[in-house]
Amino acid sequence: MSKAPATAQEVKEQVLWAAQEMLRSGLVEGTAGNLAARLPDGNAVVTPSSLDYLDMTLDDLVVCDLDGNVIEGHRSPTTEKALHLEALRLHPEINATMHCHAKHATMFALCRQGIPAVIEEFVVFVGGDVRCAEYRTTGTDELAHEVASHVGDRSAVLMANHGLFAVGKDPNQVLHVAHLVERTAEIIWGARMLGEIVPIPEEVNTTFQGYYRYGRTGKF
Ligand SMILES: [Zn+2]
Repeated sequence: MSKAPATAQEVKEQVLWAAQEMLRSGLVEGTAGNLAARLPDGNAVVTPSSLDYLDMTLDDLVVCDLDGNVIEGHRSPTTEKALHLEALRLHPEINATMHCHAKHATMFALCRQGIPAVIEEFVVFVGGDVRCAEYRTTGTDELAHEVASHVGDRSAVLMANHGLFAVGKDPNQVLHVAHLVERTAEIIWGARMLGEIVPIPEEVNTTFQGYYRYGRTGKF
């Protein structure tokens, strides 16, 4: 039996939990980073701007329509609202988005290098190499468009000179993706000091990409 879809209240609880986990697990410092998730009625719940995650309550979350109009909430929505909403608009099969400043992933973003898919589980959950999007200024519609366009066949993209953006079916999955990308970035960074990284055979990555597509769209 499949699980009943989450209610609006449950989605908000998941967003708050994932936001606090993002801070606790070191994916961000201070009030940096932000999250969003699609609600059952098609609107989105987003984290507020500049509020300590550990003090945040459900009442601090902000509900917007996908055009960015605030529908519910007494706080200002995250300054990266446009990025989250653009990704939810462009990709109807995803329901949650996260932006964070994961340390090793950001190292790749500074050098504008992608993170190669050289660990098996990476392709299954992320879809392949994580690309680095072109630089655009934080908080702008240009950044939203550039970054969101890269998560069509991947669940993560690097934001040049800034950090990481991840997408998933729900806030828990998006947190997992962000951790997996960060962990892989750290492993690759270290492995490169040991020697040359040997890629996974191409056909293995192609098969795993099929698993990723199935997990995301229900189709091979
Ligand atoms: Zn940021």
